[in-house]
Amino acid sequence: MPRIVQKYGGTSVGDVERIKKVAERIKAAREEGNEVVVVLSARAGLTNELIARAKGLCAEPSERELDQLLAIGEQESVALMAMALHGIKVPAVSYTGAQAGIFTDGVHTKAKIRTVDPKPVVKDLDLGRVVIVAGFQGIDDDGQITTLGRGGSDLTAVALAGALKADVCEIYTDVDGVYTADPRVVKNARKLPEISYDEMLELASSGSKVMQSRSVEFAKKFGVVFEVRSSFNHNPGTIVKEEVAYMEQVVVRGIAADKDQAKVIVSNIPDKPGSAASVFRGLADANVIVDMIVQTAGRHGVANLTFTVPETDTARAVKALEPVLAGIGGGQVTMHQHIAKISVVGVGMKTHSGVAATLFQALAGAGINIDLISTSEIKISVVVDLDRADDAVRVAHAAFGLDKL
Ligand code: ASP
Ligand code: MG
Repeated sequence: MPRIVQKYGGTSVGDVERIKKVAERIKAAREEGNEVVVVLSARAGLTNELIARAKGLCAEPSERELDQLLAIGEQESVALMAMALHGIKVPAVSYTGAQAGIFTDGVHTKAKIRTVDPKPVVKDLDLGRVVIVAGFQGIDDDGQITTLGRGGSDLTAVALAGALKADVCEIYTDVDGVYTADPRVVKNARKLPEISYDEMLELASSGSKVMQSRSVEFAKKFGVVFEVRSSFNHNPGTIVKEEVAYMEQVVVRGIAADKDQAKVIVSNIPDKPGSAASVFRGLADANVIVDMIVQTAGRHGVANLTFTVPETDTARAVKALEPVLAGIGGGQVTMHQHIAKISVVGVGMKTHSGVAATLFQALAGAGINIDLISTSEIKISVVVDLDRADDAVRVAHAAFGLDKL
């Protein structure tokens, strides 16, 4: 019997009506002759609500207690779904992460999965039951409940699909799949029939929020092919899988915009060995995530460093740099939050030239100034003014012919 893992996100289990609709889908998958394992998120908004409540009681809640609390969100979903299935005469049983054999390290609120032992799940499948597993949670060696980081239900699904050697892994969400660009910004954006893990990861790290990156990394590592699709319709979604040769025929697969970035300029630092090391050590020690580093050539003994950080890290970055600059003997920090990072991504860049030229020309044609540039093997990113971010995505989308592929 084909084995299928389906994951439904928070909006798909948002209320009783939606739970009933998902139950019908699960029933249909079972009646088509599949063994069905379902992974659920907490209903939309609940995890945030629980965190807010916790913070209302204690400024820095204990991470162990947070995990105890947050795990109930997913448990509500799975128990209700099992009942909805019973209501339509489908044998089903709900599981916590621990009961499903999701074993993690002990790092509360961002635990990593160590092993999955799906024997109990298999036993219930053998008995003809649908197994409904709480996403986002596991158990550590000491028997403590852990959670896998925000959006972690995707990871549960991918890990279970790998351990169960599932034939199909479907990630149901509120979008139809992965698009060439955000369809709210680009009217003729197209849904991609397939995308490689690496492209998906680059798009995710560049501001496209379809799925938790860690689950894509995990899927890549263990070769789990999955499909991102909508739970609100029956359209085919986007298959995410290992890169294959023909994928390189397409130069640019998609375009992402990250509007939650800020630019930090550290100017007039001494142009000597160790300055950059001190700056970035200080930022690293303050857990600031740095991207797109540009250093301008030193003149008159001083140099400038420019880089981007997530907007939420800017205050921490500026604070961390004060003692650093005092230590290296000078420099000023300024920051600019009114920026966006636009990234074009495609495995075809490995074998095609002229991608940067096409992008820069398109931006120039629209009168959009490029502030910073960075490249990787399969990505080119530019920083532009926030007000021009959507225009930049649109002209790049057209320039690479993404509407007509
Ligand atoms: N409920 C968790 C969150 O909101 C996990 C998930 O939805 O995947 O982050
Ligand atoms: Mg989610």
